Amino acid sequence: MIADFQIANLPKIRFGWGLRDQFAAAIAEQGFQSVVLISGRFLTRPGEYADDLIRQLQAENIRVSAFTVSGEPSPELVDEIVQACPSNAQAVLGVGGGSVLDAAKAVAGLIPSRTSVMNYLEGVGQGLPLEGDTLPFIAMPTTAGTGSETTKNAVLSRLGEFKKSFRSEKLLARDVWLDPSFLATCPKHLLYTTGLDAFTQLLESYTTLKANPITDALAWQGMTLFKGAFEALETGSETERQTAYGNLMLAASLSGITLANAGLGAVHGLAGPTGAFFEAPHGAVCARLLAPITQANIEALQASNEPHAPAVLAKYAAIAILYGSSADSQPEQLQDLIDNLNRLAATYSPDGLSHYGLTKDNLDPILQNCRSGSMLGNPLTLSDQALKEALNTAL
Ligand SMILES: [Zn+2]
Repeated sequence: MIADFQIANLPKIRFGWGLRDQFAAAIAEQGFQSVVLISGRFLTRPGEYADDLIRQLQAENIRVSAFTVSGEPSPELVDEIVQACPSNAQAVLGVGGGSVLDAAKAVAGLIPSRTSVMNYLEGVGQGLPLEGDTLPFIAMPTTAGTGSETTKNAVLSRLGEFKKSFRSEKLLARDVWLDPSFLATCPKHLLYTTGLDAFTQLLESYTTLKANPITDALAWQGMTLFKGAFEALETGSETERQTAYGNLMLAASLSGITLANAGLGAVHGLAGPTGAFFEAPHGAVCARLLAPITQANIEALQASNEPHAPAVLAKYAAIAILYGSSADSQPEQLQDLIDNLNRLAATYSPDGLSHYGLTKDNLDPILQNCRSGSMLGNPLTLSDQALKEALNTAL
């Protein structure tokens, strides 16, 4: 029997190569006269997209208040931008990677009330529900990774202290513009680490406790799109590379929908505090933890009497087959999956977590702060020992 579930609203999603050229006119058509634009710093250089966009919006008689974000946003940065925004702003446009979109999403939620984001931040803030109006948030991702454009949370961090979510269904984007042509100028190592984050989110939300038939369908589609995309970037023709950019961008947005509605698992449970205490790219952390955590989950499920265990093992086996396993027995298929995930990390995210300062002796802050949030969706509760072993393997 299908368990009870619900799916939140979805933004209006547009997908198309070169769609960015229609963006300014579409904003004007919606009647906005004053907008806040938050973009990555690189995009505001002369000749880059945000620089062009500001001129295009101004040509449509739209007043633009522009801000840039580089690196993961802090609560202080969000509050600072909110205070600097004009009171007549009617919409927030976010153009950039996951950090930019998270900052823009938070700002859109806070401009009408001009309250501090610390009132709402989970775990470290007051955790109050967001009430009252928010501004429409219009998102145009320029990387394919976190899926922030389709999630309802903004991840904010203070390095050395915390990495936590500001979460509300009111923060969902109203419009999402997916233009894979941005990926054609994205450095390949960034495509790989961000893409591995998206893949991890798809795999975790497919196997999480809160997965439902709709998120399963979307996660499966995302993992299918992801298959072969990195190889095409390495050796494909121009047409094959263009296809891969589109597949990666869509897979990332699908991962946002699935994680917002089904949650994640132990990889993200550990990646949160890892990102809070170490300056390590989120995608690289996910990539290195994915194989050891999947192995720990499979071993725990095989030893478990929980009624849902066989169904989750069957899902892992299905992913193994999707990624080319031709083994006849489930244990062999599951081993093929682990081997495949190890190969994926070794090829496309070759630096272990020790590269970012983690050692076997400084993992305690991660282990002490990993039991809330994403960890709660993991198919089974993993012991501290199992989590520590997974982190050690990822070093
Ligand atoms: Zn992630």
